[in-house]
Amino acid sequence: MPTSNSIWQQLTGLLRSIQPCQLCHADTQHWHQVCEDCWKSLPWQRQALQRQGINIIAPCRYDYPLNRIIQQYKYQQQLQFQPLLSGLLSTLKLPQKIHAIVPMPISTERLAERGFNQSLLIAQDLAKQLNVPIWQPVTRLKQHAQKGLSRLERMSDIQQQFKLTPPDPVRYRHVLIVDDVVTTGSSIQALHNCLIELGCQQISVACLAVAEV
Ligand SMILES: [Zn+2]
Repeated sequence: MPTSNSIWQQLTGLLRSIQPCQLCHADTQHWHQVCEDCWKSLPWQRQALQRQGINIIAPCRYDYPLNRIIQQYKYQQQLQFQPLLSGLLSTLKLPQKIHAIVPMPISTERLAERGFNQSLLIAQDLAKQLNVPIWQPVTRLKQHAQKGLSRLERMSDIQQQFKLTPPDPVRYRHVLIVDDVVTTGSSIQALHNCLIELGCQQISVACLAVAEV
């Protein structure tokens, strides 16, 4: 006899299958709240890329329609896209034996302006799925405009934004950095440097989308 729990799961599954796709609103939901055609038309990218000499795994390129979805999610608080974005990360073949997930930090000013850290939200879903903790040993100071700075000045400016939080006895050997969009990879490199300083021996990086430099 089916338990009430499994009946509930079947009912929510059924309900989901008759809900409209969050992107085209025409077809019904199939994968992570979007229909099969919309899912297939995302700008998929299967190979790992390098930025600043660091390997980055990403399910997609930062192209239409994903760029619009991520912008609406981040800047217009369209949090209904979170299951889709987390679903994208869940398609990645992640390295084995990750001990903790480190979401890309944002400054307090950005957090106040946006209301949430998008990388933390998607990292939390992934952490639940992998059954590993979220680790936030690095904070980010005010991010200012970098216009007019040379490449080297920009790199040093970004590195200075990342500060280790007060000493924490907890150390993880293999961590996964989670970010939303990676462009030049300079924030990833700055966070990566901090994690090396903290004694991490293996640092993997996953993001939703990689943009062309
Ligand atoms: Zn659709």
